[in-house]
Amino acid sequence: MERREIIVIGGGAAGIMASISAARSGAQVTLVEKMERLGRKLRITGKGRCNITNTKPWREFSTHIHPKNNFFKHSFYSFSNTDTISLFDSIGLTTIVERGDRVFPASGLASDVVTSLQEELSRLNVEVLLNSMVIDIVTKSESVSEVLIEDRLSGVRRGFKPVAVIIATGGLSYPLTGSDGDGHRIAQRLGHKIVECHPSLTALMPENYNTALEGLQLKNTEISLWVGKDLIQQEMGDLDFTNNGIEGSIGYKISRKAVKCLINGNRCSVSLDLKPAVDPYLLKERIKREVQQLNVKSLRYLLKKLLPSQAVEPFFSSLNLKNDSLKLSQDETIDILVTSLKCWKMEIVSFTSYERAVITAGGISLDEIVSKNMKSRMLSNLFFAGEIIDLDGDTGGYNLQIAFSTGYTAGREAASLILKKTELP
Ligand SMILES: Cc1cc2nc3c(=O)[nH]c(=O)nc-3n(C[C@H](O)[C@H](O)[C@H](O)COP(=O)(O)OP(=O)(O)OC[C@H]3O[C@@H](n4cnc5c(N)ncnc54)[C@H](O)[C@@H]3O)c2cc1C
Repeated sequence: MERREIIVIGGGAAGIMASISAARSGAQVTLVEKMERLGRKLRITGKGRCNITNTKPWREFSTHIHPKNNFFKHSFYSFSNTDTISLFDSIGLTTIVERGDRVFPASGLASDVVTSLQEELSRLNVEVLLNSMVIDIVTKSESVSEVLIEDRLSGVRRGFKPVAVIIATGGLSYPLTGSDGDGHRIAQRLGHKIVECHPSLTALMPENYNTALEGLQLKNTEISLWVGKDLIQQEMGDLDFTNNGIEGSIGYKISRKAVKCLINGNRCSVSLDLKPAVDPYLLKERIKREVQQLNVKSLRYLLKKLLPSQAVEPFFSSLNLKNDSLKLSQDETIDILVTSLKCWKMEIVSFTSYERAVITAGGISLDEIVSKNMKSRMLSNLFFAGEIIDLDGDTGGYNLQIAFSTGYTAGREAASLILKKTELP
């Protein structure tokens, strides 16, 4: 069996950062990745631009982390969003801050993020094994004694005897990038509890979805999530209608709770406030004024003044009116219109699953990981980092920061085991 100091399983954001951190702390590191190259998911993040992190201070940052932001506090403070920016700066990647405090590479290329990290791995002499899949971990006396790796090209299996192991195999989303649940299965075999997973930051499909909405982007809209008659969540911002239904930043924000509710068999719906800055009374007065001044006879004509043109027909048909004349019962029609503009209801019937969900909610239970060093409470030389654990964030750079902070912490702490060993007489 070959000896190694630290084996990091998974060459995504968390595994790469864990390798850099452990190597910078003086350990010899072997990074094992089952795909043909490192960072496949990183390369497609932020629509190819990679939203590396978010500059918000912890008080605000923490409100975007689920389900227990307090667990993340330790690793955030040991490697924060500003540390992430400094690290990238130190390895030659300039960053810029955009709307919403989101940080991107100045080049606008996610591939540059991967390249700069790869260069740092090679500068630190990290051994990288590609096309190499960890198929099992063997334990002895409450610690990992062997990591079994299969070369996916030749089928040859090798056993490694490590001092410490970091599992950073990601969640279940976008499985074609390599994260398909291997780590969960291995950790479960080792006795770790997995909190039930579900897709998050994903598209929600309305009932009888009007495909004429596809491509429409609504700015400054308010979305409310309802379970039965209970208001569960309300978000304000941008929303996209796509071929998969409702997406965009506020669609994604409510998807975490909406998906969970659908999985539990509950009915849920959303309502859109298309005029969130105006209260219903003032909106009604404004519409009445326009109808009089412009001598408006048709509701469609009026809607064109109030909504983006692509929204007019789908919105009109959702009103279920017999015709679009404003001549008869004008007051009643304007009341219906105002109510619907402030509360355009859509029943949600399904969601896009892992194949296109940005993130996995759930994962290795936080109860069995020590938050200050990311060490397993069950095995003395095992650590976890990244999306595999039961931590996830909203869109805006929060998920990569989870990967970087937990990766950095796990790497540094795993290296400290090596240093302790070598210090022994
Ligand atoms: C389309 C998309 C866009 C996103 N955009 C952003 C964004 O802009 N900003 C942001 O903050 N977050 C974004 N995210 C989320 C973010 O990318 C992830 O949360 C983060 O990359 C997770 O990193 P990770 O290292 O934990 O997992 P991953 O990146 O999934 O890496 C895990 C690695 O482990 C490897 N692996 C799995 N099993 C084994 C095994 N048995 N043996 C060896 N290797 C194995 C996999 O091949 C994979 O390379 C986006 C996600 C997606 C899908």
